[in-house]
Amino acid sequence: MARPAPARHFAAPALHFKTVFRVRTVTTTAYITHPSCLQHEMGSGHPECPERLTAIGDQLIASGLDAHVIHHEAPAATDEQLARVHTRAHIDAILRAVPERGLNYLDPDTALNPHSLLAARHAAGAVVKAVDLVCTGAAQTAFCAVRPPGHHAERARAMGFCVFNSVAVGAAHALAAHGLSRVAIVDFDVHHGNGTEDIFAGDPRVLMVSTFQYPLYPYSGVDNPAANMVNVPLPAGSGGDELRDAVLERWLPALDAHRPELILISAGFDAHREDPLAGLAFTERDYAWVTRELMQVASRHAQGRIVSSLEGGYALSALGRSAVAHMRELVTA
Ligand SMILES: [Zn+2]
Repeated sequence: MARPAPARHFAAPALHFKTVFRVRTVTTTAYITHPSCLQHEMGSGHPECPERLTAIGDQLIASGLDAHVIHHEAPAATDEQLARVHTRAHIDAILRAVPERGLNYLDPDTALNPHSLLAARHAAGAVVKAVDLVCTGAAQTAFCAVRPPGHHAERARAMGFCVFNSVAVGAAHALAAHGLSRVAIVDFDVHHGNGTEDIFAGDPRVLMVSTFQYPLYPYSGVDNPAANMVNVPLPAGSGGDELRDAVLERWLPALDAHRPELILISAGFDAHREDPLAGLAFTERDYAWVTRELMQVASRHAQGRIVSSLEGGYALSALGRSAVAHMRELVTA
């Protein structure tokens, strides 16, 4: 008697790739990270530490939100992708600066260890991957849980914990590889995103809107910003009310006028009232509120497409809670 065929481990052939991508109604949120981002360390006691990513990942699981995101591993950004926003000299200088052991300081706050180059490449690669996912319809929104952060990295200079400007690399990728003609970068980190401004000031394809504490490192953003930069400096002590005024009166009119086809977020959570590095007073509710507003802008102009990437945030518990409050809004499109 013939024996029945054994059950197959893989019950059905995988769907053809094109079949998956033809269905553009999927509304999913991608969560993108890479193990190398945990190996970049700048010495004991440095606030920009690997535990920041653990705090976010743990809170994602504890909140139950983990089951509602699709996990992806970040690829490494290529030299070509980095060179869209950085000089070859900067990229080469970083390649040469990676130490075989110990730390090599790029500025008093920013150091490379032997793993830092890989981490920085994957951090930028995560945003590239996120842009690919939302621009092909494979995801609606994406959050990149990566470090080092990027928004202080200028075209030709690493600074302020940042090596490569990951969000800028992602924005340039959207323009160059996906044919978009208008994108917006939103930056609510407590520090001004001088690097992003350096890279895109005067580029009419890219609108940048931001809030930041001023005066505070890097002490930029208030003197004659370019026309495509909507910078809203906030005095120490500012909280949710001041954020709402900035968003409703300054950001939203500029965003609606620009009609971005994609919104990228430099998501720093160091304006939280518990953060030890600065003096603003945002809470999880404020991060949820601003994210909801941005989701509405994205649905008006950008087919709902949002790519968010971690910048600052140094009070570990507040960072985890704030990032999850942000992601919960990204998931509930
Ligand atoms: Zn910051």
